[in-house]
This record gives sequence, C-alpha cells and structure tokens, in this order.
Amino acid sequence: MINVTQTFLPPQKEYNDLVKRAWDKLWLTNRGELTLELESKLKEKLSIEKIIITNNGTIPIQIALKLLGKEGEIITTPFSYVATTSAIVWEKCTPVFVDIHPEYLTIDETKIEAAITPNTTAILATHVFGNPCHIEAIEAIAAKHNLKVIYDAAHSFGVEYNNESIFNFGDVSTCSFHATKLFHTGEGGAMFCKDEALFHKLYYSHNFGHNGPLDFHGLGINAKISELQSALGLAVLPYMDTIVSERKKVVDFYAKNLDFSTIKALKIRQNTKWNYSYYPIVLETEELLLKVQKALNEVQIFPRRYFYPSLNTVNFIKNTEMPISESISKRILCLPLYVGLKKEDLEKITKIINQNL
Ligand SMILES: *Cc1c(COP(=O)(O)O)cnc(C)c1O
Repeated sequence: MINVTQTFLPPQKEYNDLVKRAWDKLWLTNRGELTLELESKLKEKLSIEKIIITNNGTIPIQIALKLLGKEGEIITTPFSYVATTSAIVWEKCTPVFVDIHPEYLTIDETKIEAAITPNTTAILATHVFGNPCHIEAIEAIAAKHNLKVIYDAAHSFGVEYNNESIFNFGDVSTCSFHATKLFHTGEGGAMFCKDEALFHKLYYSHNFGHNGPLDFHGLGINAKISELQSALGLAVLPYMDTIVSERKKVVDFYAKNLDFSTIKALKIRQNTKWNYSYYPIVLETEELLLKVQKALNEVQIFPRRYFYPSLNTVNFIKNTEMPISESISKRILCLPLYVGLKKEDLEKITKIINQNL
C-alpha cells in the first residue's frame, strides 16, 4: 500500500539511547533536558533566535489568537487544514475569509484590505504546502491598519524566504511536528516570535502561566511537550538533510514525468528555498480528479485530497463564497511523497495519472 505520506522513523536504537536519558533521570516532562536540547538544536538548524516547542501544532495557533486576536475578526485563508479555522472559532474570534491566489494557493494579499473592518484584530495566514504567503504585502497592510500577523507555518519546516527562516516572519509563527509532517516528534509543534515581550507571554501561556512553582503570570494552558516526544525529535533531526534531498528526488521525478498539458503543479514563490513537503496537482475538473483517484486506489495507491473542503464551507461557520478556493479544493490532489518511495512505484503512479487524464 502506498499512502500520501509515510512517517520517517530513525533506527530504533538511536531513539532508545536518547529516551534512556529520561529513564535515568526519572524526568518525563516539564521542559526537561531533552526538550531543552531539542530547542537548542532547532535554533541552530533553522538559524532562529527563539522557539517554544509545544505538544502539537494547533495549540500554538490558539495561544497566539488568545493573546493577539482579542475575540475580534481574524482575516484568514479558506485553503488550509481545518485547524487554522477551528482555532479561530475555538478562541471565540470570527473568521473572515479572503480568497486565495490561484497559483500560489496562499491568501490573495490584494483582497485583504477590502475585508478589514473596525473589528479586525489580526491576519492568520497559512504558508500552504510550505509556499510562503506574500509576506511583504501582508506586513504593509498589517502596519497600515494596526493588525497583528500570525502565520500558520505547519508545513514550513526548513523553508527559507529571502535567505531567512520562514519562522522569523509575522508577530507569531507556528509549526506542527505531527507524525505526518516533514520534521516530527510523533505529536508536537512549536511557536516562534522575535519580540521579547510577546515571547515571554507566549512562554507563560504554554505552561499554565507558571512563573515559578507558586507564582502565576496570567492565564495559561498546558502546551508542553514530553521528554519522550523530544527524544524522538532529537533522533529524527540528524536525518533532515537526507529527508529533504530524498523528497526532492521524488518531486523532480513527478515534475519531469507527469503530463502537464492539463494538470497544474504548485507555483513556488520567488526567493524561496522550499522544503518539498507536499506534491499537489490541480486537475481540470473534479470528475477527472475522482477518476484519477479511483484508478490509483484500485492498485492500492492513496493520494489525499489536501485540502478539501474549502474551509468557508465547513458546517461550524457562516459561509461566504470563495470561488477560487472552492474550485481548487475540488480539483487538488496530493501525490505520495516520502523517503523510500521506489522508482518503480513513481513510474506506476505517473503512468496511471497520465493515462487517466
Ligand atoms: C497539521 C496542521 C495543523 C495542526 O497541527 P497538529 O500538530 O496536528 O495539531 C495546523 N495547520 C495546518 C495547516 C496543518 O497542516
């Protein structure tokens, strides 16, 4: 069976050796030495100054919205994983959708200003599939209208924009270290913020507001990662360069062998060092997508419809029409992409797709 992704696991001994340190110290959570070591290695690997590792990639979005959203209107993208929208609603803010760019698939920055009202507090945009949003335009709009910017960078581990980590942009950026993501800790995530004062608020928020055992620094929640998960992250991290270069080979194969006369690949924004995190193709019609999907499923190949449905249509929010996102969502399919995908499987996948177009 070939799925859209396969979790990368390091040799088990390497994980065991790391996790033994938690056993030896009888220390399983509360920012132990493995978590601190992972934070320090990630800072070095990503060339960033500050990071807080968390227990997943959703809670950091919620914490950022709690601190910056202030129960107001949040301008956001309808084309992302559901967590982007549900975090807004969960934090009692109101999502205000802005349609996406048809080729970059990120929020269409030229349509943001028309959606701003006196109740708008923040923009929450996703660097979807690791493709950066139009950061300069979003920054300028936010500065002009005094809005906060939060980037859901769940897909963007290792991405660089203008030779800088993508996590350096926005008031807060978040990442997911879920097992299906590029770098993972099983379950996990992180938040990034360059501003010292806001960073401290995020930090307190992720640990119940604790400022020492008896003192509290405001309201908080539990977003801490465990030492067992951090051990897994430390075991995966040394393989990241190999993971990315192996995935690049798969992406290059698709790019070379798929028949692009009727399908479209993702357009990566200029000045981006991409991470090869997903390989979406956009077909001409949903019927064609279903036909291609069925043909692949018949031979036990399971691409995924990332992201479907368009988030403005989910049942817990008031729908506003987003024609581009709705149209793309119906026609986009992410192809299998992971370390260890064999050449003959890639040949089979591309052949089946090309024959069914
Ligand atoms: C995976 C993902 C999340 C949520 O991350 P978890 O670690 O699963 O909580 C949020 N946003 C996007 C765009 C994602 O793909």
